Amino acid sequence: MVEQQFLSVRDLDVAYASGAHALRGVSIEVGAGERVGIVGANGAGKTTVARAVTGLSAVFRATVRQGRISLAGKDTTRWPAWRVLAAGVVTIPEGRGVISNMTVEDNLRLVLAAIPRRRRPAVTEAYTMYPVLGERRRAMAGLLSGGEQQMLAVARALLVRPRLIVADELSLGLAPRIVTEILDGLAARAANEGTAVLLIEQAVVMSLRFVDRAYVLDQGTVVAQGTSDELRQAGDTTARYLGVA
Ligand code: ATP
Repeated sequence: MVEQQFLSVRDLDVAYASGAHALRGVSIEVGAGERVGIVGANGAGKTTVARAVTGLSAVFRATVRQGRISLAGKDTTRWPAWRVLAAGVVTIPEGRGVISNMTVEDNLRLVLAAIPRRRRPAVTEAYTMYPVLGERRRAMAGLLSGGEQQMLAVARALLVRPRLIVADELSLGLAPRIVTEILDGLAARAANEGTAVLLIEQAVVMSLRFVDRAYVLDQGTVVAQGTSDELRQAGDTTARYLGVA
């Protein structure tokens, strides 16, 4: 059971300037420290939810037409990205967002520099989490494998001690073994720090292994929701959306 909501999205309606009506009355909730998934096919609206929640709608010429987003009870529906970040929400965007022509360590230090010295964690925390990052700390981030870049993105996100991490298509293009390694690292740290995770994924089976609960999106609408077990055992309709029928 959710004890205390951190993120609450109510009846969210979002449309792009192109005319695409991406979300139609979406409601989702993420409790403090909870791991929640959003799954669904290509074009279902998953990334649009991530953008809205992290204050990036305007960057992609999307408008919230109706509904409300709140963080710890505060209305953040029209907050810009920097304000949402300051409220403790860090995003790992599709494509990872590491700076290719900077070393692994400089990617991490760049984020650390924004944290007041007395609260600043050691860069080695990232290396404890994913030892391969320590081995490659002087390498340019762009020269890492896709999995290592994603580890860098996850470790970097955790260094700022967020209350919620929004990860969009973290598994894209990676071997299942690597995805498991990344998610195990994330799960261990998130549990330790009480960080909530909103995992947005097309890879349903993998996603349900990691999250406590998930929402199934289809054509901009939540068509099913439940615990991972409930969704795995769901009837034909849900299974069809999940691609596990
Ligand atoms: P994917 O896995 O392909 O990213 P998704 O479930 O994340 O799919 P969205 O990317 O949120 O889905 O797309 C939802 C709808 O909004 C689609 O119809 C898509 O074409 C449209 N859309 C997404 N981004 C934009 C954009 N920048 N401009 C215009 N329309 C967009």
